[in-house]
Amino acid sequence: MDALLKNARALTLFPPSVADVDIRITGGLIGETGHHLRPRRGEAVLDLSGMLIMPGMANAHTHLYSALSRGMPSPSTSPRNFVEILKKVWWKLDEALFDEAIHYSGLVGAIDAVRFGTTTLLDHHASPNCIRGSLDLLKDALSHVGIRAVLCYETTDRGGTKRRDQGLEENERFVTENPNNPHFRGTIGAHASFTLTDESLDLLGELASIYDCGVHIHVAEDQADVRDALKRHRLGRTRRLFDHGIIRRRSILAHGVHLERSAFATIASSGAWLVHNPRSNMNNAVGTAPLRWFSPAKSALGTDGFPADMFEEMKFGYFRNAESPHRTEFSRLPQMLQNGQAIVSEFFGQRFGLIAKGCPADLIMLDYHAPTPLTTQNALGHALFGISGGLVRHAMVDGEWVMRDRRILGIDEEEVARMAQAVAKKLWKKLNG
Ligand SMILES: [Zn+2]
Repeated sequence: MDALLKNARALTLFPPSVADVDIRITGGLIGETGHHLRPRRGEAVLDLSGMLIMPGMANAHTHLYSALSRGMPSPSTSPRNFVEILKKVWWKLDEALFDEAIHYSGLVGAIDAVRFGTTTLLDHHASPNCIRGSLDLLKDALSHVGIRAVLCYETTDRGGTKRRDQGLEENERFVTENPNNPHFRGTIGAHASFTLTDESLDLLGELASIYDCGVHIHVAEDQADVRDALKRHRLGRTRRLFDHGIIRRRSILAHGVHLERSAFATIASSGAWLVHNPRSNMNNAVGTAPLRWFSPAKSALGTDGFPADMFEEMKFGYFRNAESPHRTEFSRLPQMLQNGQAIVSEFFGQRFGLIAKGCPADLIMLDYHAPTPLTTQNALGHALFGISGGLVRHAMVDGEWVMRDRRILGIDEEEVARMAQAVAKKLWKKLNG
């Protein structure tokens, strides 16, 4: 679709920038930016006077499979620690997933994402009783909404060798079948060091090396992961992952709450990304990630299964950071949010996250009427204390509208919600049975 977006006030988070521009969209890309651009034949013109336009957000670590857990009955006995949270909640939920539940989890999660202005998800999927083809179920659901994603399957040894092998195969299949898809890429998924044997880590590292795509894995989320590396393998928490080729270019390491200080620089120089998930860390009470030691250039933000409202995630991260002994500079959380788009750029081979000629036209438009002057100098004050995901009115991915006036195009949202509720009931029943 060719379009001309007129009179937009464009905001980019990092480096912060505010500019009044017209934006021409052509062939899925930003074809031109400038002042007083004139419409060309065949172009649809949209006047954005009074609105903000931003690059679509990226959620650098999430689990769509948990979308139908909202309001789910609590386990009969309360989990006392992180490992019990996994065993009593998440590993029960993923075991119970079936095709239809995966489809609706993807659909519901993608609708949420677009509504909050997130146009790319880096997802980490698990469904141990439905591994083969599970990434295609997600791909299909996300295609209905029109957003982009980098998908992988959480390989683990917790279900035995057969399931581990199916997980490896599912990752490899998806990576090889989607080398140039405009909306999807695959990567190699792994649960966490403490649920993987040395042999499995070797196999994962080998696949990541063959396809040069990195490994998406949880790292040092809780002390349990650290204790396991030391006790069972007599190795520091990252040494083991380095030894098996897991920490490498394009790897996505979620959390890093309990990493040793010396590991941060080594991880950054390997080319891997560290992804902070503040809401999840708070919810699971696993500790406070030492953001002061995270590489500003190689860290990003994820929601770890919470809805993909990246403005909200950024704010939680900001406030938690503000009261932490590891407090960093004011711009750190917006920079981390912006970096998510740099990860997407690595996977898709295009420059995401900027409103500039040649960049993919993944854009969101917000009803934000700044009540105080909004300039490049104070843009982050508006981003942290004023702008929110609920203000997103239009969204475009790859130059195509996916949401107009808060309606997702081509989707009957009420019908999806009704169907998702029925599937969630079935899933919860299975969970308790
Ligand atoms: Zn996670």
